[in-house]
Amino acid sequence: MNYLAPATVEEAANMLSEQPAAKVFAGATDVIPQIRAGRPEPETLIDLKGIARLTSVNHAGGTWTIGAATPTVELTENAELAAELPGLVEAAGLIGSDQIQNRCSLGGNLCNASPAADSVPAMIVNGARAVIASGSGTRTVPVADIATGPGATSLAEGEFVVEIEVDSPPANTGDAYLRMIPRTEMDIAVVGVGARITLDDTGTCTSATVALGAVAPTAVRVPDAEAALIGSTLDDAALAAVAEAAAAACNPIDDKRGTVAYRRQVAGVLARRAVVAAAQRAADDNQQGAQR
Ligand SMILES: Cc1cc2nc3c(=O)[nH]c(=O)nc-3n(C[C@H](O)[C@H](O)[C@H](O)COP(=O)(O)OP(=O)(O)OC[C@H]3O[C@@H](n4cnc5c(N)ncnc54)[C@H](O)[C@@H]3O)c2cc1C
Repeated sequence: MNYLAPATVEEAANMLSEQPAAKVFAGATDVIPQIRAGRPEPETLIDLKGIARLTSVNHAGGTWTIGAATPTVELTENAELAAELPGLVEAAGLIGSDQIQNRCSLGGNLCNASPAADSVPAMIVNGARAVIASGSGTRTVPVADIATGPGATSLAEGEFVVEIEVDSPPANTGDAYLRMIPRTEMDIAVVGVGARITLDDTGTCTSATVALGAVAPTAVRVPDAEAALIGSTLDDAALAAVAEAAAAACNPIDDKRGTVAYRRQVAGVLARRAVVAAAQRAADDNQQGAQR
């Protein structure tokens, strides 16, 4: 197997143009186990971690730019990021273990396209965008448009993700990510839920986003839950509607981690809890704003 380590985005794009069958990697926490499990070895592996732009985290002009190959420990240890986007950071902090988080990246989590990828619902509810490069330049697409099915992405041959962009949330906004796993550690989500809520000064919800992971071929938004929340004060009726909409939005499989019925039930319960957690953070944000 050939190993290439480009130092710039352009170099990586050229390498991929010349060798379309090459595979890029960041932490390799998916790539190596997959090869060991019998997936065909790529002839060439392109290591993205030597490219400074892909391993840096910046906050400028109201936007976070997170290099696609940045180890997620750089996110969980970033106090400013955790204060602004706690749900995204808690999702990153659930991936594997400390050892895994010293290697794994948001770009890898996204492009591995596992339906159970923890960071993806959390990125989607925050409107995250992926900046994609190739030999013919760059384009930016919503993170929600990257995975097209288990292990499949919308990236064309020769394309790779350079960075993830997430705008700083507006005032009085909170996000949260919760997942259910059968064990206490080191397992893949049976259900994962990301939620983001914005409240006005009276506690009425003015904006809501809810996304589920592990219950369909890709992460899914739950528009009926979002509609039930907007205009409400997150009363019992609205939260019951969230749970019902989340259960209905599932298109899960039966597997060793849970049956279809179990996943639907858990999706409803977790969606409700994630919305409440996000709303609490939005209310705290409002209180802190009033004190400033
Ligand atoms: C023990 C263990 C526990 C785990 N637990 C979890 C968990 O709890 N939750 C979870 O979601 N995942 C988990 N994973 C899976 C894995 O750690 C994550 O998906 C991780 O985020 C992958 O990141 P990476 O940088 O290591 O990806 P890599 O292995 O480097 O790459 C993964 C895939 O993405 C592609 N890729 C990587 N970077 C790019 C890029 N910039 N542009 C285009 N394509 C790219 C690669 O070609 C490959 O197909 C676990 C893995 C292990 C081994």
